[in-house]
Amino acid sequence: MKKIKTGSKKWTNRHETFTEKIKDLYVLGNEPDLDALDGYNDSTKGFQQLIAEAIQTKTPFRPLGAGWSWPKIATVSNGVMMDTKPLNTTLTISQQSVLPTYAGDIRKLLFAQCGNGVWELSLELRQKKLSLKTSGASNGQTIVGAMSTGAHGSTFDVGAVQDYVLGMHIIVSPTRHIWLERKSAPVVSSAFIKKLGTELLGDDDLFNAALVSFGSFGIIHGVLIEAENIFLIEAYRRRMPYDNTLKALMQTLDFSTANLPCGNERPFHFSIALNPYDMKNGAYVSTFYKRPYRDDYVRAVPNDAGIGPGDDAPCFIGKITDVVPALVPVVVNKLIGTAMAPFEKQYGTLGEIFNNTDLHGKLLSSAIGIPLNQVNRVTDLLFEINKTDGPFAGVFAYRFIKKSKALLAFTHFDFTCILELDGAFSATTQKFYTAVWKRLDNEKIPYTFHWGKVNEMNFKKIKNMYGSDADTWIAARNKLLDADSMKVFTNPILTKWGLDKVL
Ligand SMILES: Cc1cc2nc3c(=O)[nH]c(=O)nc-3n(C[C@H](O)[C@H](O)[C@H](O)COP(=O)(O)OP(=O)(O)OC[C@H]3O[C@@H](n4cnc5c(N)ncnc54)[C@H](O)[C@@H]3O)c2cc1C
Repeated sequence: MKKIKTGSKKWTNRHETFTEKIKDLYVLGNEPDLDALDGYNDSTKGFQQLIAEAIQTKTPFRPLGAGWSWPKIATVSNGVMMDTKPLNTTLTISQQSVLPTYAGDIRKLLFAQCGNGVWELSLELRQKKLSLKTSGASNGQTIVGAMSTGAHGSTFDVGAVQDYVLGMHIIVSPTRHIWLERKSAPVVSSAFIKKLGTELLGDDDLFNAALVSFGSFGIIHGVLIEAENIFLIEAYRRRMPYDNTLKALMQTLDFSTANLPCGNERPFHFSIALNPYDMKNGAYVSTFYKRPYRDDYVRAVPNDAGIGPGDDAPCFIGKITDVVPALVPVVVNKLIGTAMAPFEKQYGTLGEIFNNTDLHGKLLSSAIGIPLNQVNRVTDLLFEINKTDGPFAGVFAYRFIKKSKALLAFTHFDFTCILELDGAFSATTQKFYTAVWKRLDNEKIPYTFHWGKVNEMNFKKIKNMYGSDADTWIAARNKLLDADSMKVFTNPILTKWGLDKVL
């Protein structure tokens, strides 16, 4: 494994919202002279050496994806960070690599090393006439970085990124690495296990715990993902009255009587944005439908603000800087008016529609999961809180996702509405967030926090949110990591969240 020690003593996340003092940042890569499998296996050994060194020198370390998260989950103060992006090989899966009992389509399986960008995988799959099932609105994350926080889009019947991961290769100590998959859904054969020189562990609880584990379960070196046949998205964004009809749709996802661009057809993706300073012109309703792939489609184009049909607010809200309260409505209206301009019948593949890998300026982004039946109540509260603790320089955005099997996936309710509050990087935004969380607590409205976005969590809150699943997650971590490795893979935020418990 190539290890470049950059000598960096501090690290700043991609949004420049914090800087952390570190001991070093290593950039890791596969040995270029080896073929894909040998290079991968050599990197497994490299990671084991790094864990051994970390234990010897008592230096915690953390794998880093694309660095797109807001909380300090990919960093470790005074420890070593490992940039995994160049670890981006893939291995195709042959008939011999899966069990004869595997009922899925082997052609759709892909083994991806951790540093593969979501965008890179989309490009590779496209050449095979395949596609990822879903992604976030943007696609600059690494595959393991995205699944580790439960990144999602609004493909509500599909789920989030971790929901199409079928197996994981995890390096848990200097002497042990494992292939983890669900016992209830085994996929790989002993030939595959032999190829990676690893040990098979079939266990539903351990697997469901490790899926969303923000760097605390060891190094997830590679994941087996299930893709699907390439398809097109037919995308619309319209302004529609924010009336009882739309509210009912948001609260039920029952499209049987909907009057959307394709009538009552159940969309592939459905999301709403409310600009609190321009409600008289209605909500922004994005409705995307899945269509069979064909070559002769006209590709979607970005609008005058450079924003594509699938881009969400984090792609452009950073253009709002801290402004005096009186100017917030004007500034938000000006930005949203162009960035979220309605459009009709735009086409693209998943990778083309959800494609923004660029960031524009500092911003704060927080997302909470709430049960569908609370959506309208929470919206009423947001408008109230905006009067007392605002003005919030951003939009209220809503996406929808079915429940994940991952124990700590924040898409935790049968159908979760993800309420996103993307706003200017300012003390007012932070104050607004705090007021919202406090009000939800006071009103006893259940909610969960996106692990990769601004949140205020502690163990009590996590227990309230996840109940016994939080304990099962901790037990799984204790089962997979030995005492020395637990220390290496513990960072301050894990301790703050109370998830570092040693049993
Ligand atoms: C512009 C923008 C748009 C966004 N849009 C969305 C969206 O639409 N939906 C959504 O859900 N989120 C969205 N996010 C949030 C983002 O998707 C998540 O924060 C995601 O986890 C970031 O992935 P990353 O590769 O940058 O991981 P990082 O932030 O670098 O790391 C995330 C976690 O993964 C761990 N990790 C990384 N690699 C490994 C490894 N090999 N083994 C073990 N652990 C590892 C890290 O230690 C860390 O704990 C957006 C962020 C931005 C900046």
